[in-house]
Amino acid sequence: MQPTITSKLPDVGTTIFTVMSELAADCGAINLAQGFPSFDPPDALTDRIHWHLKHGGNQYAPMAGIAGLRDAIAAKTARLQNRHVDATTEVTICTGATEGLFSTIQAMVKPGDEVIVFDPAYDSYEPSVTLAGGITIHVPLSIAANGADFGIDWQRFEDAVNHKTRLVIINFPHNPTGAILSAADLDRLADVIRDSRAYILSDEVYEHIVFDGETHRSLARHDELWQRSFVVCSFGKTFHATGWKIGYCLAPADLTAEFRKVHQFTTFAVSTPMQLGLADYLQSDAGFCEQLSAFYQQKRDHFCGQLEDTRFRFEPSRSTFFQIVDYGEISDESDVDLAKRWTREIGVASIPLSVFCEQAFTGTRLRFCFAKDDATLTEAVKRFAAL
Ligand code: PMP
Ligand code: GLN
Repeated sequence: MQPTITSKLPDVGTTIFTVMSELAADCGAINLAQGFPSFDPPDALTDRIHWHLKHGGNQYAPMAGIAGLRDAIAAKTARLQNRHVDATTEVTICTGATEGLFSTIQAMVKPGDEVIVFDPAYDSYEPSVTLAGGITIHVPLSIAANGADFGIDWQRFEDAVNHKTRLVIINFPHNPTGAILSAADLDRLADVIRDSRAYILSDEVYEHIVFDGETHRSLARHDELWQRSFVVCSFGKTFHATGWKIGYCLAPADLTAEFRKVHQFTTFAVSTPMQLGLADYLQSDAGFCEQLSAFYQQKRDHFCGQLEDTRFRFEPSRSTFFQIVDYGEISDESDVDLAKRWTREIGVASIPLSVFCEQAFTGTRLRFCFAKDDATLTEAVKRFAAL
């Protein structure tokens, strides 16, 4: 008898990033959909990785990560977030942020536990919660009157927190909207969860890309929230190397101990030469992370300058390398259909916002990735100018 498969993820299909990237490739379209830069990592970094590949850095790394890399991350966290983490017990290197998110969720969520996510929410959260037997509760972010600022709707959030809430997943700087957290937001978050049994998983992969003189406020910065937080970051965004799949998780020692129980059997350890190269680079060059916001602000300004010639409505993104546009003056087609049609007919791929939401409250909005060279961005926008 042939056994039958009962899917553990019956509602999961192929991710929108894969769908749009494949469609863009099939159509020869400019791919402003999936978020990856068209720039190379710094030479000084790839040189160090190459050196380690050639000089014996090719066997298993320690389960928690190479000590030198954990030290460098601890130093960066002290410098930028004023949090002195213990590199031995509070920093773990993981296989991209995706593994950090997954391992945290598996470590913390038991069957029946509720996990709050804010829509639009990154697509890996809910399937990871489902695999842990948890229940995902979607709380929509609120859209400000000018349509730009997606912030936490505190009343809806407060209403969603109850005795079953085990984890709250937040993501600021926010993909796809570019929203960021203020100091007051962190205090408010602490107020809401203070008397609950909830922990926080803070996805901070865009930690170094914040514009207009604003700063990124990590949950690691906040004394009270830090005690309950897993902060997950990715070198893929920071070093123009999304294909490397290396990130890290910061958490207080008791939380890290639980995280590592899962991490060691999800992946055990992360690529050794990459870690050794990153450790050398971070120890010798402290400036790259600090310059990233200025680099991407120039990209954003260039892209938004070009967008002025279109009928898209938009407010310049406040962070990340994504720009949201509202196409309501051009079309009333659904965002998914339109993103696909424009990929085929206009030759520019984007991501529809509704796919990140349980209930599509985001209207006529698309996300463009502006981590591309200026000529590509100019050409992409030119194709929309006639609409
Ligand atoms: N979280 C968010 C919000 C992301 O945008 C991404 C990837 N772009 C990830 C997590 C996953 O990061 P990684 O590629 O390091 O696994
Ligand atoms: N995080 C990237 C984005 O938002 C894509 C990651 C992926 O393709 N899974 O575009």
